[in-house]
Amino acid sequence: MPVREDIFWVTCPRCGEKFYCDNQLRHSSIKLMCPKCRHRFLDSDSPEIRE
Ligand SMILES: [Zn+2]
Repeated sequence: MPVREDIFWVTCPRCGEKFYCDNQLRHSSIKLMCPKCRHRFLDSDSPEIRE
């Protein structure tokens, strides 16, 4: 299965949930929303990012 290159993985700084986002949201000022706890945060606030 090919690795998708149009996404990156982030970790929610509040609950630790890992989820992926569209690369268009990387290095942007648009906040990401955690699907688990609905916390909104910037990608730069994520404790862990995998690209
Ligand atoms: Zn969360």
